[in-house]
Amino acid sequence: MNVLLFGPPGAGKGTQAEAIVARLDVPHVATGDIFRRHLKEQTELGRLAKGYMDKGELVPDQVVCALVTDRLAQPDASKGVLLDGFPRTVSQGEILLDWFSKHGRAVDLVLSLEVAPELLVARLSGRRTCRSCGRSYHVETSPPRVEGVCDSCGGEVVQRDDDREETVRSRLETYLRETAAVLPFLSERCPVVRLDGSQSIASVGAQVAAAIEQAQSAP
Ligand code: ADP
Ligand code: ADP
Ligand code: ZN
Repeated sequence: MNVLLFGPPGAGKGTQAEAIVARLDVPHVATGDIFRRHLKEQTELGRLAKGYMDKGELVPDQVVCALVTDRLAQPDASKGVLLDGFPRTVSQGEILLDWFSKHGRAVDLVLSLEVAPELLVARLSGRRTCRSCGRSYHVETSPPRVEGVCDSCGGEVVQRDDDREETVRSRLETYLRETAAVLPFLSERCPVVRLDGSQSIASVGAQVAAAIEQAQSAP
């Protein structure tokens, strides 16, 4: 299955991704994680992406799309993929759907995590992230068992530079300006299930599981 995880920054995409990829046995392709890996390894792409990420802006479409289509063409993604944080513009959406149709594939399910804007700021400013595996934590609601250490991989858990308050605000503006329109675009072309992302992590997980089960049993 090819599944898209859609929602504003802080909606809980990364948090839900782990269980989804385990259930579907497909790779997790998160464009933000890919950029952060490049940043850490100080590649040219990492340096380019940083300029945009620090300002809360989007990396240009051509750069992101080339990265994603290369990733989709790799053998481990041939049976399906979970895309997280992509597409973020209508143009990215068009390129993605074209690529899938040229390769005899389709988006089987879009999971849209819907969260009230006032909750997003609290989620993002309290978020802490593992530098090694990307797992999300929250200082108040879901801290790691040992402060600063990832439960999953033992990596260092830190605050992302772009989770500071000024950048959070500009990322939410970028979402409204460029990304929100992707949902109606996708709704006209793919099966979309809207989920209440304001609920607890477990309850959102149950909604996600039910939506996937339903999509798997659809003819
Ligand atoms: P995204 O990948 O959509 O930007 P994350 O999964 O990283 O979002 O979650 C953002 C922050 O909100 C993290 O600190 C995470 O621990 C927290 N979070 C995620 N889902 C929930 C939830 N259902 N209820 C409360 N906090 C959540
Ligand atoms: P979040 O989990 O908070 O939604 P991400 O980790 O997905 O954030 O993305 C972090 C940053 O990486 C974005 O603010 C943007 O600069 C860049 N980025 C990630 N995905 C895309 C994309 N599909 N198009 C353009 N820029 C992207
Ligand atoms: Zn980790």
